[in-house]
Amino acid sequence: MFASNLLPTTPSDVFTTYRQVNLINAARIAAHTSLDVLNPATGEVLGQAAASSAEETSEAIASAKSAQVAWAQIPARERGKRVSAAARAVASKAELIAQVLARETGKAIRTECRGEVDVAADIVDFYGNLGSELKGQTVPYDPRILTLTTREPLGVVAAIVPWNVPLVLMALKIGPALVAGNTVVLKSSEEAPFATYLMAEIMMQHLPAGVLNVVNGTGAECGNALTTHPDIAKITFTGSEAVGEAIYKVGASRIIPVSLELGGKSPMIVCEDADLDKAVAGAISGMRFTRQGQSCTASSRIYVHDSLMDVFMARLGTALDELVIGDPLDEATDVGTIINARQAATIRDFVAQAEATPGATVKRYGKLPEDAALSPELYLQPTILMGLPDDHPCVMQEIFGPVAVVQGWTDYDDVIARANGTHYGLAASVWTKSLSIALDSTSRLNAGFVQVNQNLTIRPNVSYGGFGRSGLGKEASLEAMLEHFTRSKTIVMNFD
Ligand code: NAD
Repeated sequence: MFASNLLPTTPSDVFTTYRQVNLINAARIAAHTSLDVLNPATGEVLGQAAASSAEETSEAIASAKSAQVAWAQIPARERGKRVSAAARAVASKAELIAQVLARETGKAIRTECRGEVDVAADIVDFYGNLGSELKGQTVPYDPRILTLTTREPLGVVAAIVPWNVPLVLMALKIGPALVAGNTVVLKSSEEAPFATYLMAEIMMQHLPAGVLNVVNGTGAECGNALTTHPDIAKITFTGSEAVGEAIYKVGASRIIPVSLELGGKSPMIVCEDADLDKAVAGAISGMRFTRQGQSCTASSRIYVHDSLMDVFMARLGTALDELVIGDPLDEATDVGTIINARQAATIRDFVAQAEATPGATVKRYGKLPEDAALSPELYLQPTILMGLPDDHPCVMQEIFGPVAVVQGWTDYDDVIARANGTHYGLAASVWTKSLSIALDSTSRLNAGFVQVNQNLTIRPNVSYGGFGRSGLGKEASLEAMLEHFTRSKTIVMNFD
């Protein structure tokens, strides 16, 4: 266990404590090079995170490998108790973690960051309580021959997370991996590593040394060294489609299991009989406007029945105008900043393509902050695009910003076909009072997570994962732990 290191107590302490280090075998190990981590709201350099080389990444893998057998020999329920204790420790430091997260991601502390830490701790605790569910089966093969299956850990798991919801995404990976008896090397996002480090180090106080290790660095160097290492038995990745595809190929070349949670362009269908107040609120929460739309699950294609369009848009516009865009640390702020200048430029390019399209309209809502201390180029208003053809890049591609496309419809079969018209399949929602439409549409929508009259985000025990190019595998549930973090062994015993 991590005995000697004192945990940091303030955000600036966190940035100093985790300057250019990895967390390996219960120690802070200096890396040879670093990269700057910025506060996107102000452009200020928060600190330097490790830019780990392949060799430094290998040290973490060696640590995880040497801890794995002993960790797997601890009874599963006991492992789970330690993981739950780790989750409680995270919850007890929630405010500090949230303060760090807001500074490095630009997400608003009140609307996003506190909730993210709570959900992350809850997910880890949920898995901590599932140790005794790692059951096999007995098989009625022959009455004189005992035939059974057992669930075994895979070994060392490589877990790679992006910057948009790093804590929830790490929880979805390390919770089930650890409880199932694997050890983990977690790669934090180089854009926002510090809250991940803090949460991981808090957890390490309750785990044997080497069971959880954290490295940071670029995808090309640290990420690639992790996924290609021969001692990695499983890769679990959340991030972009392009990197997911590359990682899948790496997994294929080594014949190891890979889970992928990738992008999305999720449709929201508002039917003629929908409760409009609920649908408008659902469009705002589903589009994750308070996360600047930086969500894979964002309801970024909103199909509104033609008969409701005018009133829907009027109410949506009023509600979006009320969102306060500003300093992520200000308790009054609803909407913070985009993660970095590159991402903000990509989003602006998409909007410019819409603006250049004949017949299209671009509506922007809310007021940009006037505070000179805040980086103007990283603030974007919630934006609605209308009048675009179905094959427009803004309709077909993930924008990953506060930009939703609203389109009208009249024919039900046609809107289902349009909703299914991208290569993604992460999430979808339908807004109706009709049970028959709900049953029919949920069966026909090509998405792994389909909701009716709500647009909630990830919750423990509710299986989550995409179809098509949105990914492979499930997270957040018992089945996710059993299917993706264990292997099944068949044992046949004959004493005749
Ligand atoms: P990204 O793919 O650029 O990076 C994600 C992580 O992968 C980072 O830690 C990065 O360093 C690492 N990485 C990059 N190249 C690598 C390589 N070759 N080998 C190994 N690791 C590598 O994604 P991002 O920009 O950080 O995050 C945004 C993307 O994440 C969006 O496309 C979004 O849809 C997706 N996302 C998906 C979900 C989901 O649950 N489906 C959730 C959140 C985000």
